[in-house]
Amino acid sequence: MKGYHRVWALGHSMAVLGWDTETHMPEAGAKARGIASGQLAMMVQKATIDLEALVGKAEKARDLDDMEEGIVRVLRRSIDYFLKIPPELVDEIQRETTEATVVWRTAREKSDFKIFKPHLERIVELERKVADKLGYEKHPYNALLDLYEEGFTVSDADRVYSVLIPESKRLLKKVAANGVYPSRHPLESVIYDAAAMGKVNEEVLKLLQMPMTRFRMDVSTHPFTTQIAPDDVRITTRYEGKDFKASLYSTVHESGHAIYGLGLGPKLAYTPVADGASYGIHESQSRFWENVVGRSRGFVKLVRPMLKQNLPFVEKYDAEQLYLYFNTVRKSFIRVDADELTYNFHTAVRYEVEKKIIGGEVAVAEVPEVWNDTFESYLGIRPKDDAEGALQDVHWSGGSFGYFATYTLGNIVAAMIWHEMGRGALVKEALSGSDIGALKKWLGSKIHRFGAIYPPKELQERVFGESYKAEKLLAYLNQKFLD
Ligand code: MG
Repeated sequence: MKGYHRVWALGHSMAVLGWDTETHMPEAGAKARGIASGQLAMMVQKATIDLEALVGKAEKARDLDDMEEGIVRVLRRSIDYFLKIPPELVDEIQRETTEATVVWRTAREKSDFKIFKPHLERIVELERKVADKLGYEKHPYNALLDLYEEGFTVSDADRVYSVLIPESKRLLKKVAANGVYPSRHPLESVIYDAAAMGKVNEEVLKLLQMPMTRFRMDVSTHPFTTQIAPDDVRITTRYEGKDFKASLYSTVHESGHAIYGLGLGPKLAYTPVADGASYGIHESQSRFWENVVGRSRGFVKLVRPMLKQNLPFVEKYDAEQLYLYFNTVRKSFIRVDADELTYNFHTAVRYEVEKKIIGGEVAVAEVPEVWNDTFESYLGIRPKDDAEGALQDVHWSGGSFGYFATYTLGNIVAAMIWHEMGRGALVKEALSGSDIGALKKWLGSKIHRFGAIYPPKELQERVFGESYKAEKLLAYLNQKFLD
């Protein structure tokens, strides 16, 4: 599709600018970067809408293959979005969220929700407007969920969490009673040298067989992955100087995203389907590598020599001790500190609160109370202030509603992969022969090569015969933490 090349080239440019903003740009470059990005975003909008006649014609054709159908579907979604959301609304959201992000920072520092409240009220109003413009069935929140996870609805999410939450509570209790997995580990407080940890991360990239002519790694405060082109995928990692597993698992997590991007079918290149199937599916790839592979005993064996060589203090901890350090389990208030067993409680809290404010069941003023009540009902502990509660994440101030459930969908789909791989047998085998290539091959042929050709539910039906099966995540967690 020739007309798409313009959209692609603009997206490519925006990706490079976005990457540079987070990695190398001097602080004072922000203003010009904002202006340029705004202009490019408008050009993308126009270039996409220009494709409408072409897409309309293709939709009437009868002999489309799967890939062509996928292209038409993906383009229709973005054309619809741009046509339904008027530029004035985009502009209003942009202005409101830019201001709100600054205010949110102060509010969090002072741990005072009241400072943020008027801004959140306006943002919620704008998000409801977006939902109305996009249109929805049954619940306005469905329109917002669909932006991140095509076809995923409130009733899907309710089902997922109604399976996950009660069983996770029981599981957490049992794991605590067993006392095998510690809640704290001495290695968490050991200071490390960032350059030495950098060498470990380089070794880890080799272990993961990252193709270094098509890939690179830099440093940023919040690690991310960006697909610049079919043969140019970049990640970042972080070095906080303490608790080295945070750096290690940032590298592995983002590499998981990158492996997906690097594994897209070559014929998808420069087309609208040269992308992940959804946020949830993308996250499943990073979680699979981070948790299913990276936090397993087999992986610990492979990384321990790399760690010992570069971080001398690791020497006195044997493989089992390292494994326990990588898998501490404890209840915490802050999502980003959560482990495999407690993570989904955090996304569930935000999902419940978002659903209720967008649906009008809960007023913005009631958010801290509802947040804390929900949190307490899940984990039995109550945030002592707003900074520990509803103010902890930046996302609301940036106007992103509907996003958090995709983290849990990532965990679920990663466990579905584990199940499909013979309940992890293939992972064990690949790690014991240190042939990680076998795992990449599996994921490549079943998931990566299709890109966004199929919507996420259909892709899962094809690979697993079912979709978003929370029971599989519980089976994985049970086996890992209780067997
Ligand atoms: Mg991720």
